[in-house]
Amino acid sequence: MANNIKYFIGNWKMFGTPKSISILNKINKFVKFDKKFNKRYKTIITPPYTLIENFAKTFKNQKIIIGAQNCYHKDNFGANTGSISAFMIKSLNAKYVIVGHSDNRKEGDTNSIIKEKIDNVLNNGMSVIFCIGENKKDKLRKRTFKVLREQITKALDKRFKFKNILVAYEPIWSIGSGKIPKTKDLLKTTLFIKKTLNDFFKTKFSIPVLYGGSVDSSNIDQFKNLTVLDGFLIGGASKSNKKFIDIIKNYYR
Ligand code: PEP
Repeated sequence: MANNIKYFIGNWKMFGTPKSISILNKINKFVKFDKKFNKRYKTIITPPYTLIENFAKTFKNQKIIIGAQNCYHKDNFGANTGSISAFMIKSLNAKYVIVGHSDNRKEGDTNSIIKEKIDNVLNNGMSVIFCIGENKKDKLRKRTFKVLREQITKALDKRFKFKNILVAYEPIWSIGSGKIPKTKDLLKTTLFIKKTLNDFFKTKFSIPVLYGGSVDSSNIDQFKNLTVLDGFLIGGASKSNKKFIDIIKNYYR
């Protein structure tokens, strides 16, 4: 079962300076006046840490919600040069934190580190955007479901507040490549993820499952019929207000 609310989440990665607030101003204006559809979706932007405080203050009580792209796996304060904890992110009024992005898995985030991060994000009262996805080799060897099941069951804990978790299915071979999965494969995979989550948490609650990987305004049409998806995690295209707005426009029109 899909949820009624769709999520359009922009992951800016290592992009943006304080001047980039002009991009969010335009997106916010669009969403605010998109009265016909804006109750049907949420827009979340995850800028780099350096911009969270300013953006969260500016868009407090607006249609744009601010999140973070990652956090350290230990919470609170510590002797961890260059790291930012979930506790510190929460103090800037971010509401969501992406955890388990393949960029960070590549840099050493294991399932158990990801589990600690998710725990910290939830304990600080924020929601998690938990990324999972297979690489090209796994896909070719038909190991997608095995990899996804492992990522889900090893990084989540049965006691986690699952109502504060969104899952973003991001096949690694698709991120930034311009390639997207075939509709029938994406349908099967999304249903598999939903069932695995329901079995794991022993619940019928529909945990939102989003798709991420090369989504843009020209291919968003191809996802329209996949009503089982609860939204999109958008990288490259979220750095342009026009592209991000066009994705939402094209999805609803
Ligand atoms: C991402 O990195 O989370 C992502 C989805 O990137 P892109 O949309 O650029 O493929």
